Amino acid sequence: MYYLHQNMIDNKIEEEFSLLLANGANHRDVLMEHYSDTTIKHIVLMEKNGNREVMILDKTGTIIGSSDKSYMLQEEYQLFVDDFNRDKDEILVSDWRNLPYIVSVHPYKVESNQSGFVLMFQSTNSINQMVEDMNMHFVISGIIGLIVLFLVYALLSKVLTRPLIRMKEATEKLSKGDFEVNLPRLGNDELGDLSKSIHKLAKDLERLKKERNEFLASIAHELNTPLTYLIGYSKVAIREELSEGERKYYLKIIGEESDRMKDLMKNLLDLARMDENSFTVSKEHFFAKPFLESIYKFVLPSFDIKEIKLNLVCESNFQIYADSIRLEQVILNLLDNALKYSSENSEVVLNAYEKDGKTVISVTDTGIGIPSDEIEYIFEKLYRVEKSRSRAYGGSGIGLAVVKELVEAHGGTIEVKSKIGQGSTFKIII
Ligand code: ADP
Repeated sequence: MYYLHQNMIDNKIEEEFSLLLANGANHRDVLMEHYSDTTIKHIVLMEKNGNREVMILDKTGTIIGSSDKSYMLQEEYQLFVDDFNRDKDEILVSDWRNLPYIVSVHPYKVESNQSGFVLMFQSTNSINQMVEDMNMHFVISGIIGLIVLFLVYALLSKVLTRPLIRMKEATEKLSKGDFEVNLPRLGNDELGDLSKSIHKLAKDLERLKKERNEFLASIAHELNTPLTYLIGYSKVAIREELSEGERKYYLKIIGEESDRMKDLMKNLLDLARMDENSFTVSKEHFFAKPFLESIYKFVLPSFDIKEIKLNLVCESNFQIYADSIRLEQVILNLLDNALKYSSENSEVVLNAYEKDGKTVISVTDTGIGIPSDEIEYIFEKLYRVEKSRSRAYGGSGIGLAVVKELVEAHGGTIEVKSKIGQGSTFKIII
């Protein structure tokens, strides 16, 4: 605006100077064409009532005609007219800011050897008035501009900050455990993305909270059942009238139930450690055959008892790169399930081979199988297919969750293929 202001004033002043020069030149031309006292009078008369004055001088500087009767101009501006030998039109006084007139000079020469110059005076009052008007307009438009700017700023900050404030409130609600977040849909910009993320966060938190509650309820239930057995059987075992054989029988059940609880606790602790990431796998190279054979020997008696045939297929003695203790835990868990969910006289195959530099280990049984719509859930903590199954087969629904965490901690994957009534294959690739 400052630049515009300066430019407009300069242009306006320039225009005034040109007008003055044009006017003076006009008078001079008329004078040169019809030089006479009458013409001089006419020229003076023409400028009588405007804000311009005209003064005609001869070659000695004597005034031969002037529209200024008070001779004030003569006194004030005599000083500027120091050179009487000018030969072209020019602005003599241009200081419009400080002096009351701007002055232009126009030399004339007539054939009768008569010469001199026309002086034109333009009052600077009107120029100053115009500049003042213009200043005022600029100040007013400046103020209006600032107000509009402020309004736009206020509006924009409202448009931008209101959603942000709502999001802040939503996250505060989340942190207090209230997951009912209701944010407006804000389109596809950054604010919209943020709003979507908060919605997702709220949903995830709600799901986690629900899962945690379910998990706690399942654990309580899991612990409750063996504890009921323990309390019940210990009360029975303490009875005096019991024979030694009966007492042994009850104590055996107590021992078995305690073992189940201990296993459950161990698995839960493992899971907790995995969730906290305080658990590490330390990988090393070891040979597949001796490793699998030792597991095979370890589990064989349990399979024999149930009269299930266990086959180990490991054709080449390749090297496995894994945490041997954790991998053993994984295989034992899978074999344990194969044993649990297979019927007598069936067959379980433990197969291991190398493919594309990776180790593939699979456990295949011909047991009861898993319904296809439940396969995706079996790796969840405490998930069991048909809750009644576990009472019949034992198990707490935590083994496969541990297996999955362990395999993933190795950077590997686990796949399941299962058909109800025909059997299942669990395949890990690490
Ligand atoms: P559990 O200790 O109950 O066996 P898991 O986490 O190991 O818990 O397994 C989860 C569920 O998956 C089991 O309750 C069982 O129904 C099913 N399952 C796992 N392995 C097999 C298998 N080899 N054959 C049939 N069902 C299986």
